Amino acid sequence: SEPLLSVEDLRVRFRSLGTVRALVRGVHDPFIDAVCGVSFEVRAGETLGLVGESGSGKSTVARAIMGLTPSQEGSVRFEGRELRGMAARELRALRADMAMMFQDPVGSLSPRLTVRALITEPFRIHGRTDVDLDAEADRLLQMVGLTPDFGGRFPHQLSGGQARRVGVARALALNPKLIIADEPTAGLDVSVQGEVLNLLAHLQQELGLAILIITHNLNVVRHVTDRTAIMYLGRFVEQGETETIFRAPRHPYTAALLSANPEPDPDAEHARVELQGEVPSLMNRPSGCEFHPRCPYAQDRCARTAPPLTEAGGAHRYTCHFPLNAEAMAAE
Ligand code: ATP
Ligand code: SF4
Ligand code: MG
Repeated sequence: SEPLLSVEDLRVRFRSLGTVRALVRGVHDPFIDAVCGVSFEVRAGETLGLVGESGSGKSTVARAIMGLTPSQEGSVRFEGRELRGMAARELRALRADMAMMFQDPVGSLSPRLTVRALITEPFRIHGRTDVDLDAEADRLLQMVGLTPDFGGRFPHQLSGGQARRVGVARALALNPKLIIADEPTAGLDVSVQGEVLNLLAHLQQELGLAILIITHNLNVVRHVTDRTAIMYLGRFVEQGETETIFRAPRHPYTAALLSANPEPDPDAEHARVELQGEVPSLMNRPSGCEFHPRCPYAQDRCARTAPPLTEAGGAHRYTCHFPLNAEAMAAE
């Protein structure tokens, strides 16, 4: 069947300095390619996890899907319809089907609005004068497990977990089919993290939501996602069924991230891989396989030639000349 969201060869380029600053200084303003050719799908009711180190482009992918980046190329289709070049009115209707929970929930909630105003703002933005906003506010608060009196509070009066619930309520306002949750558990105590994840999982079951979840936390990915994509320097280096990715990753970078997880998967069959060095600058990308300066398996070919995208069965794909777990794969 048709995927809900289908992203093909998505590219996002930023000016590395502010344009005005560059003009004033008369300096050449180099571009950075924050996302360079990312492709993936999300099906109805499915959860996809997006992981990678800071600066790898995860939030930029999310913002580009929502049409919030200034310049992007490639195709973003929702229920088969191309978002690029779509008329404003049609795009707005479609945006109601996709909701975003932004990174930094308190910072993204306008401080002068009450919780009631915040969670019903999507109705006002979408010109929905047909709804009873107070009734909707109570319904949404109840869905996320907050009592009606929270409606009168302001963002600074909320705990981290409560702010996250308000973010979820706001995202649910227009009955979306897809929620994009950018770091929904960052900065929360472990027990509160669990509450927020359980809430998302519960709502997903109840409402049949698809979720794209962005997180640094591999345990979150392992427990809540169906599929996982691993991002490095603006590209997906590997993606596939979460169970396969965690048990037998093929890309050394994936294995390195998993090896750094303090709570490793007991069924893991991959070698321990230690990351060397730092993430390179996007302004100075390594040649060939861009992971080669940090890869313990790198050979001469890696610095010369970018590895092709290789299909490894099912949804599993990776880009590496010398993939791990060849034996495990051959046995399947
Ligand atoms: P984190 O895990 O820290 O949230 P991320 O994977 O979400 O990181 P992004 O925020 O997508 O990373 O950033 C990817 C790259 O794009 C970074 O180098 C960042 O500095 C750059 N970038 C992001 N937004 C802009 C912008 N508006 N203008 C210029 N550069 C930007
Ligand atoms: Fe490492 Fe080479 Fe694979 Fe890149 S292509 S991940 S450098 S083995
Ligand atoms: Mg981010």
